[in-house]
Amino acid sequence: MRDKVCLITGATSGIGLETAKELARLGATVILVGRNATKSAAAVAQIRQQTGNAQVEFMLADLASQKEIRALAEQFKQKYARLDVLVNNAGIVSMFRKESVDGIELTWAVNHLAYFLLTNLLLDVLQASAHPEQGRRTRIVNVASAIHYRARINFDDVGLRHGYNPLTAYAQSKLANVMFTYELARRLQNTGVTANAVHPGDVRTHLIAQNGGAFKWIAQPLWNLIAISVQQGADPVVYLASSPDVEGVTGKYFDQRRERHSSRASYDETAQRRLWEMSVNLTGLTRPVISG
Ligand code: NAD
Repeated sequence: MRDKVCLITGATSGIGLETAKELARLGATVILVGRNATKSAAAVAQIRQQTGNAQVEFMLADLASQKEIRALAEQFKQKYARLDVLVNNAGIVSMFRKESVDGIELTWAVNHLAYFLLTNLLLDVLQASAHPEQGRRTRIVNVASAIHYRARINFDDVGLRHGYNPLTAYAQSKLANVMFTYELARRLQNTGVTANAVHPGDVRTHLIAQNGGAFKWIAQPLWNLIAISVQQGADPVVYLASSPDVEGVTGKYFDQRRERHSSRASYDETAQRRLWEMSVNLTGLTRPVISG
């Protein structure tokens, strides 16, 4: 990965931090996206120290804000001429219904729309960095979840104004990750950019505990008993981001390192296109780089 540039969201903790560390260990230039400057600087210092790779830095963005996502894409392009790997990983489970600064249900904004918008804004640099004729492809890895199997997209009320439930919101957003990946991969055919979705396993992170209270003191210790380590959780993400084994593989869903069928609902191409169009409208993407 020595001459590769990788951008990873949600990289100051959990699976994202571990993925950033492993890609840095493989020699890549790694840009961590975080919300908090102190936490981000600490993560960069830790990775540099543990890997001996100085080509690690952070960029700040609250991915609940579309304005900040746009600023992040601009900042990245001003500094870097190439992008080899984009890992969309930042995610939340929100126990109560909240809205982003853009007035969008928070889980949908962070877990799906941020993936959608950031990817579209970086597609030009991802495409320009690919040279498929020389076997050099660039990669998008979308961290999804096996919880998507129990979800459907509520097109009539995607923000769940009527009957919000944290798991419904989370599962819906993770199904959107899978469907977005399939539609994206189809639109990117023959461009040299690949896109895959991955369930990392049930991983010992603080995804649920971030909600505080009982989740921190009761749910988290129980979760810790059954979950796998962050190293194990990051392994398939690093694999999809870097391994020659999956060079050229695109439009697939992986459960850890194994390619798997995703849910039946996820393969509905009409729904995938509908999701894409809805996401264009919700992000105000006026100039989609690829129209399909
Ligand atoms: P985590 O809470 O450690 O990581 C989530 C990261 O996203 C954090 O660094 C957080 O700061 C960041 N983030 C959240 N909201 C943000 C915002 N508005 N702007 C910028 N960054 C924001 O949890 P994790 O388990 O490492 O989660 C990473 C990904 O893995 C998520 O997409 C999650 O859905 C997925 N996943 C996790 C599990 C699991 O068992 N932990 C299972 C399946 C999928």
